[in-house]
Amino acid sequence: MPPIQEYQKLLKGIWNRNWLTNNGPLVNELEMNLKDYLKVSNVFFVSNGTIAIQIAIKALDLKGEVITTPFSYVATTSSLVWEGCVPVYVDIDPETLNIDPNKIESAITKNTSAILATHCFGNPCDIDAIQKIASKHGLKVIYDAAHCFGTEYKGKSVFEYGDISTASFHATKLFHTVEGGAVFVRDKKLADQVIYLRNFGHNGPEKFSGVGINGKNSELHAAMGLLNLRFMPQIIEKRKQQAEYYQKILQGLNLKYIKLQEKSGYNYAYFPVIFESEECALYSKKTLEDNQIFPRRYFYPSLSTLSYVTGNTPISDDISSRILCLPIYHELTKEEQDLVSRFLYKSQIAN
Ligand SMILES: *Cc1c(COP(=O)(O)O)cnc(C)c1O
Repeated sequence: MPPIQEYQKLLKGIWNRNWLTNNGPLVNELEMNLKDYLKVSNVFFVSNGTIAIQIAIKALDLKGEVITTPFSYVATTSSLVWEGCVPVYVDIDPETLNIDPNKIESAITKNTSAILATHCFGNPCDIDAIQKIASKHGLKVIYDAAHCFGTEYKGKSVFEYGDISTASFHATKLFHTVEGGAVFVRDKKLADQVIYLRNFGHNGPEKFSGVGINGKNSELHAAMGLLNLRFMPQIIEKRKQQAEYYQKILQGLNLKYIKLQEKSGYNYAYFPVIFESEECALYSKKTLEDNQIFPRRYFYPSLSTLSYVTGNTPISDDISSRILCLPIYHELTKEEQDLVSRFLYKSQIAN
């Protein structure tokens, strides 16, 4: 949380203006500041990361089958299904945990309209390979870049890739606005489309450009974002140190880490560790939880196993069963990391 006094100052301004939502001054300021900080062409602040994906699907008018990853948060899949598209799962690369571009082409049919891939844990996909396939087959590309705040690919913000990229600014994410998200789009016509879609289709007070939804966000959320943005360089630097420290103290354990994309800058949003087996992962999770430490099973279950879809993705199913994200947050101390480490060593010996 940012300093509460700073938030109160911004609240005072909101009270004075009596302007709570509908593209207010703080929302505009946040969008401008994000554009500068991230060095992106455009950013549209929306109410959450899920509506961001849904707006992207609508803006690109996707129909039929969409190739997607089974290793992501459920919103990647549920947004497709909610918008009437059929998710077609392509298995992941076991090292990066991102969709495996080598397996995409064989999943394309005459009904395929797009690829929706997640840059998992903020580690960019093989964007060049994906774009090459998409261009060859006339497919649109959406990146669920929910974890990618501050991540780069080939010297540019990762949000600048694909036809549209989306982000989540949920409270659990690296940069947050309590609830919130963003749509990143470079094409002018598509950008206009996103603006209409996010505001009920309004094109002026009494005119409509097609069907829309309420994807707007409020002045109070923007205020939280404006303050948090000031601390981002510090937050990312601290996470880097915490991640490096975990790696050092966990060296003696039988754990695997994700392979980072070479052409990218990483943001240390998560600290995922892959255990030898599901049994080991669950035993460690229980040991930590018994001691009031709460790792998360990100991401479990593998999305192709959800009841409302079909798919066959053995690599994702396997990794998903034995991966945990360890606690990582700004106030986490070295002593607390040592404690996490001790319980992990203890459970590995016991198991
Ligand atoms: C958090 C998350 C979302 C959803 O974002 P919300 O802001 O919570 O709606 C979508 N995709 C991924 C990969 C996420 O981690």
